[in-house]
Amino acid sequence: MDTRCDIGSLSREQIAEAFGALGLPRFRAGQVVRWLYGRGATDFDSMSDLPESLRQELSARYRIGGAEVTARQVSADGTRKYLVRFDDGTSVETVGLPDGDRLTVCFSTQAGCAMGCTFCATGRAGFTRDLTGGEMVRQVLLVADDFGRRVSNVVAMGQGEPFANYDATLAALRFMNSEDGPGIGARHITVSTCGIIAGLRRFAAEPEQFTLAVSLHSAVQATRDRLMPGVRGVPLKALREALVAYSEHTGRRPTLEYALAAGVNDTDAELGALVAFARGMLAHVNLIPVNPVADAGLERSVAARVSLFRDTLLQAGVETSVRVERGTDIDAACGQLRQRHEA
Ligand code: SAH
Ligand code: SF4
Repeated sequence: MDTRCDIGSLSREQIAEAFGALGLPRFRAGQVVRWLYGRGATDFDSMSDLPESLRQELSARYRIGGAEVTARQVSADGTRKYLVRFDDGTSVETVGLPDGDRLTVCFSTQAGCAMGCTFCATGRAGFTRDLTGGEMVRQVLLVADDFGRRVSNVVAMGQGEPFANYDATLAALRFMNSEDGPGIGARHITVSTCGIIAGLRRFAAEPEQFTLAVSLHSAVQATRDRLMPGVRGVPLKALREALVAYSEHTGRRPTLEYALAAGVNDTDAELGALVAFARGMLAHVNLIPVNPVADAGLERSVAARVSLFRDTLLQAGVETSVRVERGTDIDAACGQLRQRHEA
């Protein structure tokens, strides 16, 4: 059994500390990070500007957690969905969305998810394990490679709850943001969370200008508790306060994700609660006709309800948009990602 530490499980600071403890000069850590996440190196041997003895020393101590694409589907609209497999055989799904000059990668932060949201294919399939930061960055590198172009935007909206794997996610965002890695602007890096309060507080205090999205899906406590059992303990009042504090602290506008399901969260009472929640705070409501997943018993709201929600929110002064879904023909749209366990 390989007992070496996976260097992909270390943050930049942890790599620098470990190298410092080995008596290596500071710039070595930067060099190795550039190889790992700038060029996607999969072994120390290829790091040609490191002395041979150092390459050997590093290989003796560390392994480089790998990631490979084992399946790929292309949608009629150009969206590509990948099944990405890691060294232990665990797989996740990653999506690449080209749009003019932009190429957005929707990456996974966990294999599966423990939050159990009833409308979400990932949540329904259960939790396997946390991903390392390296495994997150490598998803982005694989998509850049496949498209043969630079990734301009990333969203942590694949499988998993980023704030249930906070440290690894932050380490990954920093590598993605770094000029030593893919160099993606912080504002073009979005984290989507089901609304874990401690995570929101920590995220608000991070120095980078990362973008935040929160899955709201209902502003009625009983409905939200039913749809999102993993955050049943989070009162909507506390969630709203945390979001207001986030905006006050960062000056940034979080997105509130709201997947509309007929008769569930698209009633007049739900609309009233949503307006009351979103009004008077810095927020952007993103309405998404729910993507029906197997056995969830949910159907998309009719177009007239979606328009009514949008118009009512706009009239109340709440910035609102309706998301255009992409990749639905290959199950690559929001909430449809589900890893397949291979034997
Ligand atoms: N765990 C995080 C991020 C991954 S889910 C979160 O929940 O925010 C990415 C987005 O897809 C979230 O906004 C989630 O609520 C949404 N989503 C999940 N299932 C969906 C479905 N069936 N239809 C539309 N959106 C869905
Ligand atoms: Fe997990 Fe997000 Fe899906 Fe909920 S919506 S089960 S938090 S991935």
